[in-house]
Amino acid sequence: MRAIRLREMLHTIERSAKRTASLTSRPIFDPRVMEALEQVPRDAFVPPELLDQAFDNGPLPIGQGQTISQPYIVALMTDLLEPQPAQTILEIGTGSGYQAAILAQLVQQVYSLEIIPTLAAQAAELLSRLGYANIEVRTGDGHSGWPEHAPYDGIIVTAAATHLPQALIDQLRPGGRLVIPVGRPYLSQELLLIEKDPRGELHTSDMLGVAFVPMTGGVHARRNNH
Ligand code: SAH
Repeated sequence: MRAIRLREMLHTIERSAKRTASLTSRPIFDPRVMEALEQVPRDAFVPPELLDQAFDNGPLPIGQGQTISQPYIVALMTDLLEPQPAQTILEIGTGSGYQAAILAQLVQQVYSLEIIPTLAAQAAELLSRLGYANIEVRTGDGHSGWPEHAPYDGIIVTAAATHLPQALIDQLRPGGRLVIPVGRPYLSQELLLIEKDPRGELHTSDMLGVAFVPMTGGVHARRNNH
């Protein structure tokens, strides 16, 4: 039953990729990305009481008002990053740890920042239990990025930002790719692909409308903390 549901999830992603190709210009995702989606057990990342929905193509609540993203969106964002085996990727918004696990199948090292300490701890514990040795999770505010390991070959933000955080642009390697939903909290957001060319200039492509939980923290929160 599990194997069948997983197959169905992969087929649904493939169909969605074709259906949205006019917006994304990506009718087919990289076979390596699809393989990663096949290998990472999404059922390990959802709450036990939602196990029967683990392979549905929808977001699911993971506690603390947060969600594990829809599989098709995870696939699309991963594909947009064009991950390569020798790369280092920064993720903002660890959540359940699912997206980090997908990336860890595809690149050398993943750093993932989560603003809610309980979620960061839970994800770190789960990822290490599943054997992922190339993911480091830390509690922190993604607006500042993770300067110690910069520059990154790719940065993926899985919460909706109101603007492009400058620290993330700065921490992206020339030639690198940043995938981020930008827009108004709980309202319309656009999934953006930002490519930093070798001269450091940015090129933005607008993919499609998405609905992410908001990126919290930022300048105001930091000020309040002081
Ligand atoms: N990638 C996750 C989905 C996460 S939902 C997964 O695969 O399950 C978005 C996550 O971003 C939430 O856990 C939320 O707490 C976190 N988040 C929100 N604002 C953040 C910020 N400023 N810095 C880091 N994480 C943030």
